[in-house]
Amino acid sequence: MGASDPGTTAAGAETSGASAPPENGLHPTPRFDVKSPADGSVVASLPDQSAEVRAAVDQLRRNQPAWEALGPNGRGEWVGRLRDWLFDNDERVAELLQQETGKPWQEATLEVPTAIDLIEYYRKRAEEYLADSHPRPHGLLTVSKKLTIAHRPYPVVGVICPWNFPVLIALVDAVPALLAGAAVAIKPSELTPLATREIVRGWREDLGAPEVLECLTGEGATGAALVDEADYVQFTGSTRTGRKIAQRAAERLIPYGLELGGKDAMIVLADAELERAANGAVWGGMFNTGQACTSVERVYVEEPVYDEFVALVAERVRGLRQGADGKGSDADVGALSSEAQLAIVERHVSEALAKGARALVGGKRADMEGAFFEPTLLVDVDQSMSCMCEESFGPTLPVMKVRDADEAIRLANDSSYGLSATVWTRDRARAERIARRLEVGAVNVNDMFMNVFTFPVPQGGWKESGVGSRLGGAHGIRKYCRPQAITATRLTPRSELLWYPYTARKRKLALRLTRFLLARDWARRLGRRRH
Ligand code: NAD
Repeated sequence: MGASDPGTTAAGAETSGASAPPENGLHPTPRFDVKSPADGSVVASLPDQSAEVRAAVDQLRRNQPAWEALGPNGRGEWVGRLRDWLFDNDERVAELLQQETGKPWQEATLEVPTAIDLIEYYRKRAEEYLADSHPRPHGLLTVSKKLTIAHRPYPVVGVICPWNFPVLIALVDAVPALLAGAAVAIKPSELTPLATREIVRGWREDLGAPEVLECLTGEGATGAALVDEADYVQFTGSTRTGRKIAQRAAERLIPYGLELGGKDAMIVLADAELERAANGAVWGGMFNTGQACTSVERVYVEEPVYDEFVALVAERVRGLRQGADGKGSDADVGALSSEAQLAIVERHVSEALAKGARALVGGKRADMEGAFFEPTLLVDVDQSMSCMCEESFGPTLPVMKVRDADEAIRLANDSSYGLSATVWTRDRARAERIARRLEVGAVNVNDMFMNVFTFPVPQGGWKESGVGSRLGGAHGIRKYCRPQAITATRLTPRSELLWYPYTARKRKLALRLTRFLLARDWARRLGRRRH
């Protein structure tokens, strides 16, 4: 929901253009086009709101105290109404998502239910997670005090999103922040702002909810302006942009969370259930056209089962249906998000082929309108190839033969990224031992993407994959709060031992008490010093 400009979508039927008519009589509001990657058509023209960010955040900051004062259950009421709105409008949101992302209908319709699952998880637990705690005083000096830790929200949280899961990522970060009592400004990707913007419009206009949720559209400059104004920044996107955000946040001394890129490895051991592993590899590599941060980006398979595994994967990749399926269930793999993303995938595959890799399936741009790349299985790859060390973010599965688990672990860890990994073996105890040797924030054993749907565990990248983590039970909501310590004395003598006036008697008493209570042995407790 723009701070001032209504914006238009294809449904709203305004033609695209670089700018709107002047609103202040001086400068037209710059605009940008949103295109469908499935056919290149312009589906909306939206305002670039970079110049409006400060005013919008100021307004959120003014609205936030009343929101905080509602308490977790009062805020949960409103968030519950958002859940209802999402159930009532899921199809329309999925249509917008499909327009802007080119996802198959099956994937476009998955984001809202997953977000609702998250909403309910935190809505039901917000009161418990945000409750004050009262630690016991630890010593004589504090024995008469009541100690309280309260969780007070950052006033305005900026949520900056990428284009791969526009609705899910926006809500996964915004909802816990709202429940924590913060006001939230979402900056969606310039490639995919429509569905998110519609949800924020629903919050404000259809529900008439408190104006503590804002959507600010535009390109990178809008995101940068939000980092200049927010009190906490939660960012999901590329490592390159994450670095810029960390630099600016450091200058402003504001906290931030970064969920960045990945190059997730899949390790298939000789005793794995190969059919399940092959199915997992294909879904994990091709889901969302390979554009998930935790996509399988490289596969290491133990020598004895390599040929069989590759044959199973090839058969399945060949069977994938690709295209724009409207509201059917006719496509498994959709378009890439943009021509720029397609160019990266094309480069990784062509560089691999030039260095001796073979494409057993696919290997080139699909022969159809739009940003489609064929689901691709690459073999004879090595660790030096860009498809094995740079984030591809496309429907590609490079598979490499390894001698043993040790080699697989070494190669999996040989990456600047450390987001997540999967291990496939019938020996679960061994898998867990291997997990503890992997330098990543999450390991799924014989499973795919499961940590992402499991809200009690944290989701965060190591190394260049991120700073901090999202979700993880209480952490997922408390991270948007500043712990506030409140100490209150129960006894109120006229003065205290440490207060003025300083006297030798009080000093000695304090030191003697400290010795008596904290020294290891009786000699020291009674004042003896060892030299
Ligand atoms: P991106 O970094 O290009 O853009 C992300 C967002 O940042 C966009 O909204 C963009 O407008 C904004 N932005 C750009 N410059 C900015 C600046 N200087 N200051 C503030 N904001 C700025 O990333 P992308 O291409 O949209 O997303 C793809 C990346 O996201 C991939 O690397 C993927 O791995 C990562 N990702 C990570 C996770 C995770 O949880 N770790 C989840 C999804 C995607």
